[in-house]
Amino acid sequence: MKLVFLGAPGAGKGTQAKKLVEKYSIPQISTGDLLRAAVAAGTALGKEAKSYMDKGELVPDRVVLGMVEERLKQDDCKKGYILDGFPRNTLQAEELDKMLSALNMQLDAAVSVDVPFDDLMKRLTGRRTCKACGQMYNIYFNAPQKNGICDKCGGELFQRDDDKEETIKKRLDVYNAQTAPLFDYYKNKGILKSVAGTGSIDNIFANICSALGIK
Ligand code: AMP
Repeated sequence: MKLVFLGAPGAGKGTQAKKLVEKYSIPQISTGDLLRAAVAAGTALGKEAKSYMDKGELVPDRVVLGMVEERLKQDDCKKGYILDGFPRNTLQAEELDKMLSALNMQLDAAVSVDVPFDDLMKRLTGRRTCKACGQMYNIYFNAPQKNGICDKCGGELFQRDDDKEETIKKRLDVYNAQTAPLFDYYKNKGILKSVAGTGSIDNIFANICSALGIK
């Protein structure tokens, strides 16, 4: 299964992608996660990326495209993958198509997880992540039992730099201007599957599975 997951920041596409990954043992390729790992490792690429990420802007296409191409060539991608947070604009989508045809691969579907704009702000400003195990919480909808502490492992929770309010507004503007046109891009290819991203995580997942025709 080769999928692209589209959706605004905060739409929950990462959470849903993780559930599919667990079910099908295919890798989730999140460009946001790859970039954050490069930032944490302090590589030259990470330093360059951080300045864009902190402002809520897209990292230059050449940086992201190189990273994705390397990742797709790895053996574990042969049976499938979920691209999460990539492509983010039309150029990336076109370059992805070229990369895939060179690798003899074809996308099965582009899944869009749709959430009304007003809900997105709360989801994003409330988001907290465990430093130790990566478990995600939301202080409005899914708060940890103890403020700032992970229920699972006792690790410290933190707020991503780009989940601060001004950056979030910018990320949503960038999304509307640059990423939203991809719905038409994939619709025209006949592979867009739109799913409502509100309700319980399990319900949304069931809707995604049914849109993809899987159990
Ligand atoms: P995400 O976790 O997917 O919301 O990504 C966090 C940030 O990483 C974004 O706001 C961008 O600055 C950067 N980023 C992630 N994926 C991409 C991409 N495909 N193209 C450009 N920038 C990206």
